[in-house]
Amino acid sequence: MANPNQEIKYTQLFINNEFVDSVNKKTFVTSNPANGKKLADVAEGDKADVDLAVEAAKKAFARGSEWRNLDASARGKLLHKLADLIDRDSDIIASIESLDNGKPFIMAKADINFSSTVLRYYAGYADKVHGRTVPSDGNLFSYIRKEPVGVVGQIIPWNFPVLMLSWKWAPALAAGCTLVIKPAEQTPLTALYVASLSKEAGFPDGVINVITGYGPTAGAAIASHSDIRKVAFTGSTEVGKIIMEIAAKSNLKKVSLELGGKSPLVIFDDVNLDEVVQLAQDAIFINSGQICTGASRTFVQEGIYDEFVKRTVENAKTRKIGCPFNTDTLQGPQVDQDTFDKILNYIDYGKEDGAKLEIGGKRWGNEGFFIEPTVFSNVTDDMRIAQDEIFGPVQSILKFKTIDEVIERANKTNYGLAAGIFTNNIENALTFANEVEAGSVWVNCYNVFRSQVPFGGYKQSGIGSELGEEGINLYLETKAVSIKLPNKN
Ligand code: NAD
Repeated sequence: MANPNQEIKYTQLFINNEFVDSVNKKTFVTSNPANGKKLADVAEGDKADVDLAVEAAKKAFARGSEWRNLDASARGKLLHKLADLIDRDSDIIASIESLDNGKPFIMAKADINFSSTVLRYYAGYADKVHGRTVPSDGNLFSYIRKEPVGVVGQIIPWNFPVLMLSWKWAPALAAGCTLVIKPAEQTPLTALYVASLSKEAGFPDGVINVITGYGPTAGAAIASHSDIRKVAFTGSTEVGKIIMEIAAKSNLKKVSLELGGKSPLVIFDDVNLDEVVQLAQDAIFINSGQICTGASRTFVQEGIYDEFVKRTVENAKTRKIGCPFNTDTLQGPQVDQDTFDKILNYIDYGKEDGAKLEIGGKRWGNEGFFIEPTVFSNVTDDMRIAQDEIFGPVQSILKFKTIDEVIERANKTNYGLAAGIFTNNIENALTFANEVEAGSVWVNCYNVFRSQVPFGGYKQSGIGSELGEEGINLYLETKAVSIKLPNKN
C-alpha cells in the first residue's frame, strides 16, 4: 500500500555495514518535489568519507577475505536474498521513492519490481562467468580467466534512483567486486534503505558502501580515488566528461558512462494512429519527461502530420497530472527547482525560435514543481528544443517526407542513445534499425528495457553497455595464462 507518511529511517552514510555520520558532521536537506516540504536531513559525505568507504571496500576485497572466499553461487544466493527483501518491502521503498523523487507511486512500484528482476538476472550469472581455453601457436597451453576488477565507484542520477542502483550493484556484485556508490543529492533516501536490506541479506562488511552527498565533492572524490579501479557513471554528458577526465588524471581507472540523449521517434503514414499517438506521447512524457531515452524528437510523415498533431493535443488534455499518491496520476512534479526552471526556459526558446505551442507550456498548480504536458508542432532541426536535452514533459513534432531524409536528420545529433520507428513496412523498419546511430532501437514499441538486453549509448551518449552479458563484462578483467609444454599434443 502507498504511504504518503512513510517514516524515513535511514539518513546516515552506510560504510562497512554500519550507518554513520559524515566525518565533518554536515548534513543536507532532501525535500518532496510535490510540495517543496523537507523530508529529512541527510549526512553530507565528502572526500574523508569516501576514503573510509574505499578502505572498507578494499579490506572486503583483500586476498583471503570472506567475500573473496565465497563460492560464486553463494554470491548469487546473496543477490537473490536481496531481491526477495526488496520485494518484501516494495511498498515502503516505492513510498520513499515517490516522496523523494515525485514520481507516481505506481511507477515507483514498477521501477522496484524491475530492480529485483535485474538483481535476480545477475544472481543467476554469478556462477556462469566462464573463462576459456585457447589454441595458441607453438608449444603452449593458454587459458583465459575472468576476474573481478576490484573496488568500484558508482555515481547515479535522480530520475530512477533504485533502478539505477540495481543496474550498478547487480553486475558488480555478481562479478565479485566491492563497491562505493553515490546516489544523487536530490534523491538519497531509497539507496540508504536498500543498503539496510543488503546488511539484512548477509553481504559481508565493506562489500557495499553508500556515500550520500554532492557531485563536485563526494562524487569527484570517487572519480579521483587512486584505489578505485573502475567508475561507472549514469548522468549528464557534461558531468560524464568531467568524470572521464578525473578518472584519467588520477589512476586511469576504467570508465563506463550512460549519458544523455535526444532520441528520435519516427512515425510513418502507414500506422494505426489510434494507438501510435498515445505510444508516442508516453515515449516522451513518462517519468515527467525525466528519462534519458525520452523520444524528444517525434518525426511524423507528411501525409498524417496534421491529423497526428491534432490527436496528440487531444491526448495531452487527458493526461492526469497531480499528487504522486493518487492512483490515477500519470505525471508527478519535476524533481527540483533547477530542472523546473530549465524546462520553462526551453519552452520559451521553443516559442522564440518559431515553433508552434499547441498546448501546455506553463506551471501546473501553485505548489511543487509541476509542468503542464507541453506539445510543440512545426519544429525544425535547428531549433534549440530540437537539439538540446530538455529532460521534461515537452514533445516536439517535426515533419518528414522520405526514409533517407529522416535517417539523415535523426542522426544529426551529438547523442546516440535510443531511437524508435513505428511502421508496418518491414523494409523501412530494418533500414532504419541498421542505419540509425543509437545503442537501442525500438520497432513498433518504445522504452522497453529487459535485464537480458544490453543498453548503452553511441557517440556522446556513453561508453559501454549495461544489462545483459555486456553489463557484467564492465566489472571483469581478462587474464591470459600461457603455460609452456614439451610438445603440442
Ligand atoms: P548529473 O550529471 O547532474 O548528475 C548525476 C550524478 O553525478 C549525481 O549523483 C551528481 O551528484 C553527480 N555529479 C555531479 N557533478 C559531479 C562531479 N563534478 N563529479 C562527480 N560526480 C558528479 O545528472 P542528473 O541531472 O542527475 O541526471 C540527468 C541526466 O542523466 C540526463 O542527462 C540524463 O539523460 C542522464 N541519464 C542517463 C541515463 C542513461 O542510462 N544513459 C539514465 C538516466 C539519466
